[in-house]
Amino acid sequence: MSSQLSSHLIALLDSLAEEITLQRFPAGALYVVATPIGNLGDISVRALSVLEMVDAVACEDTRNTGQLMKRYGLSKPLITTHQHNEAEAAQKIIERLHRGERIALVSDAGTPAISDPGTRVVDAVINQGLAVVPIAGPAAATAALSGSGLSGEGFHFSGFLPSKDAQRDSALQSLIDSPSVLVFYEAPHRVLDTVNAMRRLFGDQRRIVIARELSKLFEQIHRCALSEAHEWLAADANRQRGEFVLLIEGANRGDIDTDSMLEARRLLTILLEECPVSQAAALAAKITKIKKNTLYAMALEIANPSS
Ligand code: SAM
Repeated sequence: MSSQLSSHLIALLDSLAEEITLQRFPAGALYVVATPIGNLGDISVRALSVLEMVDAVACEDTRNTGQLMKRYGLSKPLITTHQHNEAEAAQKIIERLHRGERIALVSDAGTPAISDPGTRVVDAVINQGLAVVPIAGPAAATAALSGSGLSGEGFHFSGFLPSKDAQRDSALQSLIDSPSVLVFYEAPHRVLDTVNAMRRLFGDQRRIVIARELSKLFEQIHRCALSEAHEWLAADANRQRGEFVLLIEGANRGDIDTDSMLEARRLLTILLEECPVSQAAALAAKITKIKKNTLYAMALEIANPSS
């Protein structure tokens, strides 16, 4: 692609900007503005219009946001709003909104309040009966999901896992039976350990997508079985660098390998000698981590072989 925008694109942006100004941008409102997760071109025309219009921008890091604004040829007073001062910052923002100002809230990258500060400010503003206007745009989770091709019953966004091993494992354990695609953010220095833990807890067969450096020069979206993920990352030190989203496909009967099903059948046969179907299924689910519904159906089959 040429580095110059075509005259068609320039005219299009112009006409879009006109259309955007026809929309209502209420005064005294908080605008929650998504910014790029890497590629500066991912900012929306609407986000730029809002950043140009507002009286001030609340941001995590004034240096980062100052640079971003400069890159887009914008300059606005910045209000520091990070996780350690969110409650106080919310009060300052609310005072200004009550005076009829428009304030934008941005984070360092992507969508505010998605594994980023913002929730408390938005909550406080809503509690005051003031308007909140989300300006949708990039988020690493949705970008990764859209490029993953993984199926499940919806998706479950977990954000960052706990940093301590035991807590991480129990967070993962609680998701083993989830039929949803599981979405995690991970730091580069933990990615190898995390995929090992995922393999140990979810099994070899479940598929993982490793989405790194999305929208940047070295973007990679690699899909493989959990049994292959560690090897793929370890094969090249560059693959362990940058920013990561990890996605695991949803649990379903097809994930459970034949050996596990045979073992579950053996276990259920023993349990059914001592307890009723539902109790046997519940106990076997606890032991094997296979879904209780799957085991219940199997237990019924064993208990009533002719039905
Ligand atoms: N608010 C952001 C969003 O909307 O996605 C997320 C902020 S969170 C503090 C930062 C984490 O998001 C990174 O550690 C990484 O897991 C993920 N992330 C952000 N940018 C990314 C990118 N370009 N590629 C892959 N993951 C990214």
